[in-house]
Formats: sequence, structure tokens, C-alpha cells
Amino acid sequence: MEKTYFPLDRMRAETTPFYYYDVKLLDATIDAVKQSSSFPGFHVHYAVKANSNPEILKRIAASGLGADTVSIGEIKAAIDAGFPAPKIVFAGVGKTDQEIAAALEYEIGCFNAESEPEISAIEAIAKSLGKKAPVALRVNPEIDAHTHHYITTGLAENKFGIAMSMLSKAIELCEKSEWIDFKGLHFHIGSQVTDLTPFKILCERINDLQDKYTDLQISSINVGGGLGIDYDDPDGHPIPDFKEYFKIFHENLKLRPGQQVHFELGRAIVAQCGSLITRVTYVKEGVDKKFIIVDGGMTALIRPALYQAHHKIENLTSTSQEEERYDVVGPICESSDTFGTDELLPLTKRGDLIAMRSAGAYGEVMASCYNCRALPGSLFSR
Ligand SMILES: *Cc1c(COP(=O)(O)O)cnc(C)c1O
Repeated sequence: MEKTYFPLDRMRAETTPFYYYDVKLLDATIDAVKQSSSFPGFHVHYAVKANSNPEILKRIAASGLGADTVSIGEIKAAIDAGFPAPKIVFAGVGKTDQEIAAALEYEIGCFNAESEPEISAIEAIAKSLGKKAPVALRVNPEIDAHTHHYITTGLAENKFGIAMSMLSKAIELCEKSEWIDFKGLHFHIGSQVTDLTPFKILCERINDLQDKYTDLQISSINVGGGLGIDYDDPDGHPIPDFKEYFKIFHENLKLRPGQQVHFELGRAIVAQCGSLITRVTYVKEGVDKKFIIVDGGMTALIRPALYQAHHKIENLTSTSQEEERYDVVGPICESSDTFGTDELLPLTKRGDLIAMRSAGAYGEVMASCYNCRALPGSLFSR
């Protein structure tokens, strides 16, 4: 098991807060993805929005995975990191004209279009540039992925994707355009999905759709991302069960001859290799509680404040055998700036290093300068 090893001497010398990335674990995770996805026609893209740190992107690009992007900024970051343009897909409900034009100039692999007006915009821009646009349609598969409501995207009515009842018209729009190369269908049911059943249901939905559109040439099926990780036990489960995940699609998707399947995993690839490292500024005694105030808060890692997420909290430097209950909070002027309540930790003192584990996804990439704070830096394992 690749338990993350923290180089305390190097870490003590760093300005906190910063992100620490265990690149050995990242590499082992990528290897596991590649091994487990080696079925005919399967292609994995990394969802850049989970973490666009250039070092991380470079490593993933070098491994041969493709990139899933949601803005022209991400497309540029992916290209700079070495992802070949044909392996880049571009999703998102609000692609601007400028973004569409730039993506066409880069000759990216596919636009995942999410509405009729977007298809029309892509067509018009493609025509004006004289470049045929590869387009897949994002279908809302109407599956409840049982995750947090902010990160469930596959239900009947939300801003993502095209409702199944409106799909035929959107396909027609693509098919009749000489400036659109219709590639296939795209789905994404949500994020941090740990029970694999929703993915099996997704396969069934896709099979039904393929049965409905028998005359339609569908060269690619993109099943999105969303595979979850174990936030409670990062050392027990440092690498998600990719074997089971890919097996579900291999066993349940009824593919047509030659059909390609694309995956867009973000969190599952990068979450466990990253930790936010903070330093204890004060240990404050309240009336009934003790507070550990650390020097990184929701500006460094917003998931607890934004999604009520919980990251495993570890005191990396305390050598005490005694334990205490603490609330672990950040320095930001918001009461949601809390990492944990009643956390059982070894006796903690000012200056200790505290890690928020499993923070490699949707961590550094969401950091902000609120309260005029500096962005967290990053440190990589050797
Ligand atoms: C966010 C997103 C992903 C990646 O989601 P993870 O939960 O990080 O795997 C993939 N595809 C689309 C369309 C997304 O919006």
C-alpha cells in the first residue's frame, strides 16, 4: 500500500499553508487507471478542473491520458502541459464564442455541447473559420447519483446537459449541418460517487438510447467521471477501485462494433496524492471547547465550507501519546471556515504541522485570495 510519507524536515522549512503532493502515489494511481482500463476502445481523460497545477498536469499528460476541459484557460493549460489537442475534449454549459473559436483553432478532439443554442453557435463559428467542429451531445441521463445536491448533475432538470426528451431535435441539428461532425453522446452523472450502482444504471440508459437511435452513427460514448474516493481512510484506500469501476462499463455497456468509450476522471486520479499542510497559529481554550487555529482556511481549501466536506485531519509533528478533542478552524472571517469539530487529535501545540488529507482534487485549484491572503504554494515529494 502506498501510504503517503511526509518529509517533515522539508515541510518545516516551507511557508504554510501549502499543498504537498506525493507524486509516487500519483504515478501509482495513473498506472492503476491505465491497467484497469485496458479494454478495447476505452480511453481515459483527466478532468483538468480537479487540479491544474502544471506539475500534476505534466505528469498526467506524459502518461498518455487525454484531458477533459471546461474553459479555454484549461485547454491552454492542458496544451502547455503536453496533452495533444486531439486528446482534449471541451465541456461546459457556457462556452463563449471566443472560447469556441480558440478551441477550433487548436483543433481539439471534441466539443461536448450542452444545448441547442450552443450547437448553433458552434456551427456558425465553425463555418466562419472554415473548420468542421467535432461535437458530442451531453445528455442528461436522469439518474440520481445519491451524492451531495450541489454535485449531483444527472437529475431531470438542472443546468447541465440536454434532456432525453429534447435529444432528437439536437441530434437533427448536428446531422443536418455540414460544419458539424457528430461524434456521439456524452454523460456525467455527478461527483464523489462511491456506490457503483449509478454507473451500472448509466450503462443501461446508454444501451436504451443506442437501441432507440439504431440508424444514428455514434462513434463515441463518453460516460463522464465522478468516481469517488475514501476521504475517511486515505491510507487504507490510497487508490480507488478502478478495476471494479471499469469492469462495470466493460460488462454492462453494449457497444457497437468499433465504438469508442471515453471516461473523464478527475477526483479519483488526484485527490489522494494531495494534502493541505497548515501550521498551528494558536491553540485557544473556549468555555467548553478547545480550538486549533491553523494558518490556512477556506481560502486554501474551500471544500468543507462549500460542500460540508470533511477531510481527515492529522497532526504530523505532535509526538504526544495523549489525545484531546479539538475544533480545527481557519483564520478567515467566516464561521463556515471550519475543517472539523470535536476531532480527536494528539495533544497539539502552537507551531505543529496539521495536514488536511485527500485534498489533491478541488483543493489548490479552488484557492482564492479572499481577505487578501496569498495563494497556497505547492511542494512535491521526491
Ligand atoms: C467535473 C466533471 C468531471 C470530473 O468529475 P470527477 O468527479 O472529478 O471525476 C467529468 N466530466 C464532467 C463533464 C465534469 O463536469
